[in-house]
Amino acid sequence: MKSIIRLTLLVAVALFNAAFSQNQPVSSKGLAAIDNTGKFMVYEFNRHAVGDNDILIETMYASICHSDIHHVHEDWGDENYPMVPGHEIVGHVIQVGKNVTKFKVDDFAGVGCMVNSCGKCEWCKADMEQYCPQVAMTYSDIDEFHNNEETQGGYSNNIVVSEKFAIFIPQNADMKKVAPLLCAGITTYSPIRYSKVKAGDNVAIAGFGGLGHMGVQYAKSLGANVTVFDITEDKRADALRMGALKYVNVNNENETKGMDNTFDFILSTIPAKYDMTMYMKMIKFGGDFVIVGVPAFDNQPTVTAANFVFIPNRNVYGSQIGGIKETQEMLDYSILNNIYPEVEIINATPQAVEEAYQNVLDGNVKFRYVIDMQTLK
Ligand code: NDP
Repeated sequence: MKSIIRLTLLVAVALFNAAFSQNQPVSSKGLAAIDNTGKFMVYEFNRHAVGDNDILIETMYASICHSDIHHVHEDWGDENYPMVPGHEIVGHVIQVGKNVTKFKVDDFAGVGCMVNSCGKCEWCKADMEQYCPQVAMTYSDIDEFHNNEETQGGYSNNIVVSEKFAIFIPQNADMKKVAPLLCAGITTYSPIRYSKVKAGDNVAIAGFGGLGHMGVQYAKSLGANVTVFDITEDKRADALRMGALKYVNVNNENETKGMDNTFDFILSTIPAKYDMTMYMKMIKFGGDFVIVGVPAFDNQPTVTAANFVFIPNRNVYGSQIGGIKETQEMLDYSILNNIYPEVEIINATPQAVEEAYQNVLDGNVKFRYVIDMQTLK
């Protein structure tokens, strides 16, 4: 009798411990910007517990988007610090909540720019969660669905996310190169699809960096004739190697002459001030000019009312990332068609990230830095 009671007690304690640890916050370690100067430090913090619909991902790789640099430097307004950036994240699933169906332990999963939304508004219902008024961005945001938790991003050893906001990555994917697809990939794929770019279209990609070199590959894969615009000679050979028919160095005035009314679609990924009117003139009547690059708020390009009237009937629109459904579609399309970013792998140290940021600003990266998060000490 005594031994039965003892056994029952042991089982009860074990069950209690298991349930209790499920509800515990997840401890995390990451690389955080300490303020807007761009200095980083190793930082320990907690994430919310793994809920019934959540998965816990052990981060393998997180890549550096120019948006991370804009955030850290407060180019777009006030931020909170310490800030763990990173919204291009891939890793292994190491724990799943009891309602999770899309993932099992050991699957590969990715997280992009958002980790939650209301699920009820017109945007959520239309699979465009990025425009939900309550969307929780992956870092430097407030997740009102988790007691107003300050979100922290992927330059860290793990992340907890609802399975709905995680992207399934097949086992045959080249994981070192997948992370940039979660933002650079979807941000270029989405408007290219929305504008229905097709074989034979004349397409220009302005800004040939992390986003731009993905845009070139998607447009090319659809059979478009691609021209690349950038400000350096260093990337001319790379653009032609990736399938562009033409490369234009906008710093060389002769190269931009005679191109008015040329393109069906121009995608601007430029992160600094530039001559937007020049690109508007290069669009054909009825063509699309899509803006995804977001320069610092105090350094914005300008267009005038007169530009719209005297360069008439060009469709000018902006676009933000893409919804979760479309992100999964982009991921599947990319892996199937062997479309990957070109990456440089760095260690997860504050110094390496600080140097990488400076290199991106100086135009010294081809084409995306990827942080190996397993090297975080
Ligand atoms: P990168 O720094 O990797 O690439 C930017 C490229 O633009 C570089 O090749 C740069 O050249 C080039 N460039 C700079 N100035 C000019 C110019 N005047 N004319 C032509 N090319 C120029 O940045 P990302 O690709 O990571 O990001 C680009 C922008 O997109 C950022 O503003 C980022 O915040 C934004 N973004 C927007 C998203 C959205 O949802 N809309 C999502 C993700 C990013 P060089 O390297 O020589 O300096």
